[in-house]
Amino acid sequence: MVSEKEVAIDAVLKAAKLCQDVQSDMALADAIEKSDRSPVTVADFGSQALICSAIGDAFPQDCIVAEEDSEALRENPRLSARVADYVNRFVEGSPDRVCEWIDRGKGEVNNRFWTLDPIDGTKGFMRRNQYAIALALIVDAEVRFGLIACPNLPQAWDNPTTEQGSLLVAVRDEGAYMCALDGTLLKQIRVAEGPLRFAESFEASHGDHSAHVRITQELGITAPPIQIDSQAKYGLVARGEASVYMRLPNPRTPNYRECIWDHAAGIIVVEEAGGKVTDMHGQSLNLSEGRRMTSNRGIVATNGKLHERVLEIIRTVK
Ligand code: AMP
Ligand code: MG
Repeated sequence: MVSEKEVAIDAVLKAAKLCQDVQSDMALADAIEKSDRSPVTVADFGSQALICSAIGDAFPQDCIVAEEDSEALRENPRLSARVADYVNRFVEGSPDRVCEWIDRGKGEVNNRFWTLDPIDGTKGFMRRNQYAIALALIVDAEVRFGLIACPNLPQAWDNPTTEQGSLLVAVRDEGAYMCALDGTLLKQIRVAEGPLRFAESFEASHGDHSAHVRITQELGITAPPIQIDSQAKYGLVARGEASVYMRLPNPRTPNYRECIWDHAAGIIVVEEAGGKVTDMHGQSLNLSEGRRMTSNRGIVATNGKLHERVLEIIRTVK
């Protein structure tokens, strides 16, 4: 029997290739707006169709909780034909079939489910900057396995001449690894005590950048923040290239609740690399409540060593 890991890695790498194909053809006008005004592209739909098709075929009993659904595509035959064109480079299926694959992602959170962000950081994708394809398997509210494919992430952050494209893989109790986008295993990854560096969203509205500045000053971090989109930030912590990733609630959206697909894979990648992830109050992230983490506020991911200190500073500064 094929393992979850094999099926998931194969599907995510194909989705990453699809995203790169779309990006190389893309005009910025290709995004459509969702009801919350966030953008979604041909690649979001194509990536979700490929991954849900593979997971659903291999593990038909499993639910998938994914970010997109096919509603906007069904209303737009031209767009659904374009999505199908890209998907058909990897798997045959009519535009209707592609919509059905996408809608496999409408599953419910239960005791065993997958969660998928087909493109995390769509705005970064559109800026040709950082984005990720993120997939995780959750069993009894615990992430068992997670994948973050970052097509534009150099394999070493401080050396932009290294090959771009990093796949971060973590299996519970088996460690975290980096592979190239052809699936070749590169190395085991570990958090590091230094350099003292800090990562946050590129989009200022997704966090509280002014609070982050105050907190990092207290921590003694003098280097400028690394501001990038997507769960690539968890990747930087797991690879030891940043010691802290913070995402405190933006004062303009105090009632925002984080989506499970934006964090599930990142949690296990950082934990298996030796780090720690909680909300801003030190509570573990609860992935069992539904599509959003309704009882958590903000996110703190660290190399582990700094975790208590960061939480303590947040208590005094916020
Ligand atoms: P990032 O690339 O880390 O900035 O995260 C992108 C994700 O931020 C998107 O997928 C959204 O789900 C999420 N997001 C949207 N609005 C907010 C908000 N007000 N606060 C925090 N996250 C948000
Ligand atoms: Mg996302």
